[in-house]
Amino acid sequence: MLDSSIEFLKGIGPEKAKIIRAVLGISTVEDFLTFFPIRYIDKSKIVNVADLTEETSAEIQLKGKITDVQELTYGKGQKRLTAKFRDATGTIELVWFRYSKWMKEQIPIHREIFIFGKINLFNGVFSMSHPEIETDEKKALSGTLLPIYSSSEKLSKRGINNKFFQNVVAEILRNLPALIQENLPNSLLRNLKLMNRLQAYANIHFPQDLAHFEQANRRLKFEEAFFFQLGYALKKHHHKTSMVGNPFPIIGKYFTEFYDHHIPFELTGAQKKVLKEIRNDLKKPVQMNRLLQGDVGSGKTMVALLSMLMALDNGFQSCLMAPTEILAQQHYNGISELLKGSNVTVRLLTGSTKTADRKIIHQELLSGELSILIGTHAVLEEVVQFQNLGLAIIDEQHRFGVAQRARLWAKNKIPPHILVMTATPIPRTLAMSFYSDLDVSVIDELPVGRKAIITAHRREKDRLSVFRFVQDEILKGRQAYFVYPLIEESETMDYKNLMENLEHITEFFSDCNVTMLHGRMKPDEKEKNMAYFASGKAQIMVATTVIEVGVNVPNASVMVIESAERFGLSQLHQLRGRVGRGAEQSYCILLTSDQLSRDSRTRIKTMTETNDGFRISEVDMQLRGPGDLLGTQQSGVIDFKKLDLLTDAHIIKVAQTTVEQLIQLDPTLQHADHQSLRQYYIQQYRGKNKWGQIS
Ligand code: ADP
Ligand code: MG
Repeated sequence: MLDSSIEFLKGIGPEKAKIIRAVLGISTVEDFLTFFPIRYIDKSKIVNVADLTEETSAEIQLKGKITDVQELTYGKGQKRLTAKFRDATGTIELVWFRYSKWMKEQIPIHREIFIFGKINLFNGVFSMSHPEIETDEKKALSGTLLPIYSSSEKLSKRGINNKFFQNVVAEILRNLPALIQENLPNSLLRNLKLMNRLQAYANIHFPQDLAHFEQANRRLKFEEAFFFQLGYALKKHHHKTSMVGNPFPIIGKYFTEFYDHHIPFELTGAQKKVLKEIRNDLKKPVQMNRLLQGDVGSGKTMVALLSMLMALDNGFQSCLMAPTEILAQQHYNGISELLKGSNVTVRLLTGSTKTADRKIIHQELLSGELSILIGTHAVLEEVVQFQNLGLAIIDEQHRFGVAQRARLWAKNKIPPHILVMTATPIPRTLAMSFYSDLDVSVIDELPVGRKAIITAHRREKDRLSVFRFVQDEILKGRQAYFVYPLIEESETMDYKNLMENLEHITEFFSDCNVTMLHGRMKPDEKEKNMAYFASGKAQIMVATTVIEVGVNVPNASVMVIESAERFGLSQLHQLRGRVGRGAEQSYCILLTSDQLSRDSRTRIKTMTETNDGFRISEVDMQLRGPGDLLGTQQSGVIDFKKLDLLTDAHIIKVAQTTVEQLIQLDPTLQHADHQSLRQYYIQQYRGKNKWGQIS
């Protein structure tokens, strides 16, 4: 059995089994099979000396002649043997620290031979110690890839070394091939030209040649991507067939009137596209669960409002929830403005809403008088009850947890449709794998006429010219942000930092009104300062990252980010998105110290090179890894053995499409050709709640 303990395998026994389990976490036969080699020794290729680089780290094979064999004595009579090795393109040194007289005499000199070993670089000279020497060309180019398994000194001491791993795996493959049952449908193997499972395992451990290795690798990656997607697809299918939702069949007067007469601009193609996707969902008697991804400034709010009007046309209430008071207030202001003159009722509910007002809101929600509620998490409170909540929209999803989302569901007997909006694009591969239980809509186009923000990197020594630049912009009637990172652990220190900086700025920009925003302020104070800036009475806003999300002041055209090297990429991108919201050319200036780490340099460079949030999120994933990007709670879900979210986008896409087609054809996996898959799925994933349920 695949889940038998490894102690019963030939050459292991209880003692070794215990150590292997403790050090490597391998306890079953299956664990052993999926303990993949970390690399392979490749004797199929010959490398030229001229092509060696600092990065050449694996064992390699060279073809050439040995010359100048010399014995050197050093230290207390210790000896070492050196030689030169020359091919048509260059020379390296060979070194032997241990050797016998016999061996020395056996070294073939001035003859065409092959050497094999690991390359070192000392003082600009490449060398190889204790090379394997082969005179027979056929043997040298045997063409096989030998597996190297990750091991440790502790293991090696007990005889658990590379040879040991090779033997055990070879033994399993030789004696237990029946255990490695195919788990993908035959039709799929044929269509996608995938290697079968047994062959894949055999070739991942002992590749017949490079081509077979690549086939095996592709098959195993595909398998992982496939079952991961299948889990989500089954969950989604289950949801769609069991989660009833209120259908909104009508496009009525609220929507039409607003759409035809009150939108102050032409919708972008992307906005129209996602609206159509939302409309399609809302028509059906199934709860919508949709993620709306759109870069900062791409116009998600308008999509939200139009969706809420669809709900209203069908007699349902909506709510829009934002992660901060400022944002909720802003949504409220913007949406009220757009709805001016219509008889749609909108109200704002946040932590600082007065008790008397709350009571009114509660009543109006229950009576159905209130159509749209905008607020913070205050809308989640038990006392907030709707007459018929049909649509719940959550802005800036990464601030709310899944649990909070679920509380919205409970606000109606038939759960409301859910639209989650996020301005933090995540790489496509990650979205494809991780959000496959949500339907995803993407606004991948900015409104026309938006000028791309110009981003520049400046150092501390340029501060004066940066300040002068900001001053010029202010003289033209624009406004500017100065943003500071949270540097110290203590809030008091941060506060102090901010105050000092505020002083410098007030001093330099003595003709301007400067206002401020930071985490320690009370909501009404924040509100007041924000309004002061938004109205244009203050020209400069000095802030911490509180303004990161969503703040919208179109006349602000300069964003100066202080100590920009301390910010993460997605944060920088969010901050930059606070400018470039009006018709004027906008600027983002990244001020940094003179010395930057490599990662900081990459971040800053990426920011100056692109405004594309998806591109930025991809670099972010390369720097931080997919796990960090998702947050620690969720990273376990994407612990793949072979699949790499950074490089396997194509395989993931193919797996996704394949799964979609399969589920459409046979959603409960009943077809004869799907039985192996069904069995494997049930056996592997039954009871693991992150996967979909099938019976
Ligand atoms: P985000 O997606 O970041 O939430 P917003 O919804 O705040 O973006 O929109 C940013 C700005 O762009 C707003 O001032 C909004 O009125 C404007 N806007 C939205 N859609 C369009 C459009 N199709 N054409 C022109 N301006 C638009
Ligand atoms: Mg927004």
